[in-house]
Amino acid sequence: MSNLLPFNSTIINELFKPMPPEDEPDLVSGFYLVLQGYALVVLKGVELTLLLSEFLPVGADLENKKIRIGFWEGKPLWAIQVSPDLILPPEYEALPFQGADTRLDNKLATIAGRAAQIIYWEERSHFCSHCGGALVRIQECWGKRCPSCSSEHYPHIHPCIIVLVRRDKELLLIRNAAWGVGRFSMVAGFIEFGESLEECVEREVFEETGIEVTNIRYVGSQSWPFPSQLMIGFTADYAGGEVAADGIEVVEAGWFHEDNLPVSPGGKRSIARWIFETYGKSTNE
Ligand SMILES: [Zn+2]
Repeated sequence: MSNLLPFNSTIINELFKPMPPEDEPDLVSGFYLVLQGYALVVLKGVELTLLLSEFLPVGADLENKKIRIGFWEGKPLWAIQVSPDLILPPEYEALPFQGADTRLDNKLATIAGRAAQIIYWEERSHFCSHCGGALVRIQECWGKRCPSCSSEHYPHIHPCIIVLVRRDKELLLIRNAAWGVGRFSMVAGFIEFGESLEECVEREVFEETGIEVTNIRYVGSQSWPFPSQLMIGFTADYAGGEVAADGIEVVEAGWFHEDNLPVSPGGKRSIARWIFETYGKSTNE
């Protein structure tokens, strides 16, 4: 089931208790998630784990940027983003939690992704987008309030559909303009004003490939913290049309036999990969 996908809460439920931030400047013990971009700083040569406060790398700016995001194994869990230019001491390394590198296990990748998503929101929510006033935190949640105009602001999580379209034993795949030659995946796109999820599926598939779909079925969802999407997965059946890539966002589109798909559609931790593995084979043989 999709709850068990990396970056969803179920993966870390037994270890992590999320909490809204609290101002506790004196409480600095506990575990630290030290992020360098989309990579987690760990100690080399030991079992990979979060860093306790006494093992923090020198040079991390710990006093000004840390934020407590909850509790990990009963201890406070702090997140901190260090500069990409920070040269880590030789006993440390930064392991990516996005992309093909899977040296971090799914639990560590998931909590690192959570921290990255929170830091992204925190760094972009200092000021009111309505009047420009400085925001203050609303207690007991991640929201912020503007004392000047009373607007309230909450974390921006962007819903995005992703859909596997089938025509008999063929699957509809696309290559995004930003991807390298030979990399294909499913149609995906952001919800627009006024759209239901099914309407978004229909529109995105038609816009990107010229194909009409029917029998749209929800199959699962995944938090995707790069930087802050909610991926909502569907399958659908071909209803009509000829494949025609839009040539702008999608440079190639086509039908691929389910037994002869391009190499590794979707990243290893993505819902795209999970949908391919779960729904990629026809069951009517
Ligand atoms: Zn305001």
